[in-house]
Amino acid sequence: MFSTHLPSISWNKIQENITQISTQDVQAILSRSDNDSNNTLQDFLCLISPVAAAYLDEMAQLSQSLTQSRFGKNIQLYAPMYLSNECQNICTYCGFSYTNKIPRKTLTDKEILQEFDVIKSYGFESILLVTGEHDKLVGIDYLLNAVALAKQHFSQVSIEVQPLEQHEYAQLKEAGVFAVLVYQETYHKETYKNYHPKGKKSNFNYRLETPDRIGNAGMYKIGIGVLLGLEDWRVDSYFNAMHLDYLQRTFWQTKYSVSFPRIRPHEGKFIANTHLTEKELLQLICAYRICFPDVELSLSSRERAGFRDIIFPLGITSMSAGSKTEPGGYSKSEALKQFEVNDERSAQEVANIIRAKQYEAVWKDWDAILV
Ligand code: SF4
Repeated sequence: MFSTHLPSISWNKIQENITQISTQDVQAILSRSDNDSNNTLQDFLCLISPVAAAYLDEMAQLSQSLTQSRFGKNIQLYAPMYLSNECQNICTYCGFSYTNKIPRKTLTDKEILQEFDVIKSYGFESILLVTGEHDKLVGIDYLLNAVALAKQHFSQVSIEVQPLEQHEYAQLKEAGVFAVLVYQETYHKETYKNYHPKGKKSNFNYRLETPDRIGNAGMYKIGIGVLLGLEDWRVDSYFNAMHLDYLQRTFWQTKYSVSFPRIRPHEGKFIANTHLTEKELLQLICAYRICFPDVELSLSSRERAGFRDIIFPLGITSMSAGSKTEPGGYSKSEALKQFEVNDERSAQEVANIIRAKQYEAVWKDWDAILV
């Protein structure tokens, strides 16, 4: 379990190590000829350091070339679909938090199918089903039913829901789920409880061990990430990279993706603790690509359109498009959003931009028949 590794690594020590990186350290990594296989976690630390920011152009060029050689000029498009905004947790940064007085909604079968019709009409074949975390209202039976409905319409079904038990992940895999996304939010154990004071999510270790349970269940793909803006993004990202490295070694047959959610405005008063600039986000994406050449890197519509258009060719492999962040949002909704999207263009508009840059907008790249 990754939770047994974590206590041996000091947050403060990593923070200190980042300040000691020199320009020579960064130059040595970028001048290697075999930069597609031999990079280490220490290299990742160097590349996310403040010193490496001066080498962003070189990092972006290397990241772009590694991405094209591994993935071609392809961007996979997916649609997140919120099934429910019910949640038993208090997360201080989230619009769905238990104590927020918002209209709550869990989609019925009929409403789910209405959403599918609209999403499908845009051309999507890959869907990400999202819920808040509620044991009873969106428990395993609800999820299995939603997945069964989704499988009739989409070739690739992924989920981002409450952490579950291993046997439940096995059931979801059997039902046709391709990938499970679960974000640790922050690896800073001491402050984690401040952001998650109530509910099952306040159990740091249970969440941390979730990718192990997903891997043990044999899921095809696991997505991880941190919520950028809670704690020092460099240290949190280093821990996330360590987690990824551990998972790749432990569950070597599984595919992985990393996402980069930055805190966005929402219902409530949360102010980000730290701010990650767009340049720093690009630096982070390039560092992942250079050190983890085979990992899928995903950029959501939380980011503004102009920024997404510039950086997707520099390391990204999948993007959401035309996203709605409320249950029923594609067909109709009066419920509240989890967060504001920044890129409000339609899926077709995003696909057109991708093609204009001589990239392929990929609506479908996987089918159960291929397994
Ligand atoms: S982040 Fe997730 S668990 Fe936390 S309040 Fe929002 S929906 Fe619930």
